[in-house]
This record gives sequence, C-alpha cells and structure tokens, in this order.
Amino acid sequence: MVAKILDGKKHADSMLGEVGASVGKAIAKGNRPPTLAVIIVGNDPASQVYVRNKVRACERTGIKSIEHKLSVDADQESLICLVDELNDNGAVDGILVQLPLPKHLDPKMALLRIDPAKDVDGLHPYNQGLLLQGAKGLRPCTPRAVMNMLKAHNIALKGARAVVIGRSDIVGKPMAFMLLEENATVTIAHSRTQNLPSICREADILVAAVGKPGMVEGSWIKPGAVVIDVGINEVTDESDAARIMANEPKKLETLKAKGHVLCGDVRFGEAVKVAGAITPVPGGVGPLTIAGLMTNTLWAYES
Ligand code: NDP
Repeated sequence: MVAKILDGKKHADSMLGEVGASVGKAIAKGNRPPTLAVIIVGNDPASQVYVRNKVRACERTGIKSIEHKLSVDADQESLICLVDELNDNGAVDGILVQLPLPKHLDPKMALLRIDPAKDVDGLHPYNQGLLLQGAKGLRPCTPRAVMNMLKAHNIALKGARAVVIGRSDIVGKPMAFMLLEENATVTIAHSRTQNLPSICREADILVAAVGKPGMVEGSWIKPGAVVIDVGINEVTDESDAARIMANEPKKLETLKAKGHVLCGDVRFGEAVKVAGAITPVPGGVGPLTIAGLMTNTLWAYES
C-alpha cells in the first residue's frame, strides 16, 4: 500500500480562497475589511519569517494587517498597554502576539490580556474552556485547520480510534478535543506514556505533535491509518538523517547540499508504505496553520 498524500498546501489554498471570497463579499457591501493586528517583540529571525508569511496571507485574502513592532527590551507594561489599546480599537478584529517573546516578558500574562473575542490564536483560557465544552469559539489555528482538511477528505471520524501524541495547549490538547467533538474515541499520549508504539498501532487516526524528528516509526502505524504529522524539525546530522529518512533520497540530498533538512515527527519513508493517508513535512500541516489564522480572523470579524 502507498498512502494518499494529504497536500496541506493545496488545502490551505482552498481555505484561503474561501476566506478571500467572504472578505470580498463583505467589502462589496461597503463594510470595512477584517483587520488583524500582529505584535512582534524583538528581532527573532524565525518570528520575522512567520509574521511575514501571516502578512502575505492577509494580503492574499483581503484581510488588513497591522504590524506593531516593539523593541527587544520593551517591558511588560508597554506590551500590556498595546494589547489594551488594540482591545479597545473597534476596527481591530484579531490580535496576535507572536511567540516566543524575549525571556524577560511573560507570554501567559500577555495572552490573558487579549479580549477573548479577538484571540485569533485561540489560546485564551476562555476560548479553551469553550472548546472543552464543545461550544463555538476561536480555536487554535493548527488543529482547527487540520480538522478542516480531514473533513474535506471525508475521513471518517465518528467512532474512529484517534491517538494524539503531545498535549500542548496550542496543538495536542485542542486537537484531541476537536476529534472528540467529532465523536472519535481519543487517547492523548505524552512523554510519560507507557507502550507508546502499541497505543499508536490502535489508531485509525494518528496525530504526532511532539517535536522529535522521526520518532514515530512505520511499525507503529496501523495499516490504512490516517497520519497527521504536525512536527517540524530541522535535522543537520547525516547519521540521524540516514536512520530517519532511509527511504527519502531527496531529503538526504538536500541535507548534503544545504547542511540541514526539515522532517516531521513521523518517519515518512516508512509510514507512507503502511498508512492509508499521510501529511508530508514540509507541505502538510505547516501551510494549514496560517490558513487557520485567516479563518479565525474572519470568524472574529463576523461574530
Ligand atoms: P510542545 O513542546 O509544547 O509539546 C510537545 C509534546 O510532546 C508534549 O506534550 C510532550 O509531553 C510530548 N512529548 C515529548 N517527548 C515525547 C515522547 N518521547 N513521547 C511522547 N510524547 C512526547 O510542542 P508543540 O505542541 O508546540 O509542537 C509540537 C511540534 O509541532 C513541534 O515540532 C512544533 O514545531 C510543531 N508545530 C507545528 C506547527 C505547524 O504549523 N505545522 C504549529 C505548531 C507546532 P509532556 O507534556 O509530557 O512533556
């Protein structure tokens, strides 16, 4: 068996197209565009890239983006003041504080301060509480978009056995609750889970959100399972790569040429021979996250 590849980029394009169409309709009626305010503190290069990609997605969908840059030594008070200002601004629908923040700032305090109605990352305890109760609300972008893709591919969720590896507030836990909401029977695994491979082998739907390159081996996967690989890991060591990416010659070539290569938490080359469907890394869950953010911003605007 060779698994169907779940193309996240293609699905993200269709999500962005839908958001763009709704924004277009709202503007045609004479309304202001949905507006996303992004706060970035300091000069972390990865954060700059993420913010740039978010701004690009806004441009593509017609969402207005406003970037607020604070210097690396900005204090907690100025961050909180900015969040308050954006909370009070009726022309701002979504507020996103780009993480990680510099070490002297408390991300939890900043996230708590965001008006839950504008919390487009879905990380405020109020929104996480709504999710726990199965009520409508803003949900973390990655699991929200993953669910959207599973549904678009008509993947049966009702009664399915789902295993989510990872229990972070941003991916693992919300993913598990969204699968539960669709009547899957869900197991959440984590670093203290015993017999992880055998638990994974029970999964019709296996979600890996760990951050450990190639941790999930092909032998952990139930034949025909749907595998969602959320992990994004950079591998630089050739012997690690040879073990993890044994059946992926192109990736090994990339490593040789560039000195680094991206891979997921799942050994794609092994898993693709066992699974029924699988997301690649890159090009799987990654592009979906930004599409989820645009969907959330539109949702906040319309609500
Ligand atoms: P966290 O580090 O917050 O959480 C990792 C989770 O994995 C924890 O719950 C941890 O368990 C669990 N874990 C660690 N080691 C093991 C192990 N050996 N066996 C089983 N479980 C283990 O990470 P995130 O949830 O933020 O992200 C996970 C991955 O997804 C990362 O690679 C990240 O880069 C990627 N990511 C990708 C996104 C995308 O757009 N594609 C978006 C967000 C994240 P415990 O709680 O016990 O410590």
